Amino acid sequence: MQVHIPLKKVVDNSYDITIDTLPKMNFDTKVAVVTNQTVSKLHLDYLLSKISAKELHVITLQDGEEYKNQVSIDAILESLFENRFNRKSMLIAFGGGVIGDMTGYAASIFQRGIDFIQIPTTLLSQVDASVGGKTGMNNKYGKNLVGAFHQPKAVYIDPYFLTTLPQREFSAGVAEIVKMAVTFNKEFFTFLESADLNNPKVLQEVIKQAVQTKASVVAEDEKEKGIRAALNYGHTFGHVIENETQYKKFLHGEAVAIGMVMANEMAVKMNLMSEKEALRVKSLLEKYNLPVSYVIEDVRKFYETFFLDKKSSDSAITFVLPLGIGDFVITDKIDNGTIMCVLNKFGK
Ligand code: NAD
Ligand code: MG
Repeated sequence: MQVHIPLKKVVDNSYDITIDTLPKMNFDTKVAVVTNQTVSKLHLDYLLSKISAKELHVITLQDGEEYKNQVSIDAILESLFENRFNRKSMLIAFGGGVIGDMTGYAASIFQRGIDFIQIPTTLLSQVDASVGGKTGMNNKYGKNLVGAFHQPKAVYIDPYFLTTLPQREFSAGVAEIVKMAVTFNKEFFTFLESADLNNPKVLQEVIKQAVQTKASVVAEDEKEKGIRAALNYGHTFGHVIENETQYKKFLHGEAVAIGMVMANEMAVKMNLMSEKEALRVKSLLEKYNLPVSYVIEDVRKFYETFFLDKKSSDSAITFVLPLGIGDFVITDKIDNGTIMCVLNKFGK
């Protein structure tokens, strides 16, 4: 199964995403695999059995979003310099979105940019983070505030890696899949409603459809000047929830699930979506044990936190609202009365 990403603007950034058993990879250059301790323990031997290279190095970082920072980036760069990597060398990101984002970012800045390959091992990184070329890290001012657009040379998605993924992490990935279906593809949404993701064939098909959806959006809008912003459905509210709960209570996908329920509430209020459609989305999220409710302690504070999101302009909040199932509107013209009314529904 292959999905081709045609990105041909000034330079040819096209690449293929393969959704299948990991292939054998031969490199006549130096290669560094960047991974973390968790993924390394579970799957590194298998990965290494698939790679032959002029020289093969492994850089193992600590596991966690809190390590997605300059210290880890420096550790990657240091290892590349110590081992005399050059502009022809290759990095391989082997892990979830944290590893993917950092490896891509390190590849984008090492000697002004070298090639890298994504081998994502979480559902979220397979369907979302590894597709689209956004790379980066966090700093004390916030998440993903430093980074670069740097497209991988290839993405290899092997659903086999998901067999060791904790259930909660799996569901968090499903939330991003539901997001893509609600905004872009009604048939895909309907398919998901009856899909059994425990069936490997069905799971592979679902990953493929999600990747295709994200890929086509990215192909149309590589640098997020237009429709790519629709992928923020559920995120405007979700980011506030993550912020309010200090990024501890919910996984990102879980906060997005609640965020989608909130966005739907707004869409229903504005007659963009029917109650019945909103209920279908909620039921699908519940099927994967995703949270669908949240009590806002302080509605005013919640409202103000919207403005900390880097994706909101200074004066207006941008919302992605579903238009039924399978379409969307992006708007920053929602009056405060409507916003407050929706937030109050989730208030104490
Ligand atoms: P993650 O990378 O932290 O992985 C989640 C957990 O699963 C980690 O503990 C990890 O070690 C573990 N893990 C990974 N693979 C495993 C496996 N096969 N079996 C068992 N455990 C495994 O989180 P994530 O959800 O993959 O990604 C989130 C990150 O991705 C965030 O930093 C986010 O900013 C980023 N992201 C980037 C983009 C993008 O476009 N670049 C899009 C979405 C998210
Ligand atoms: Mg997301």
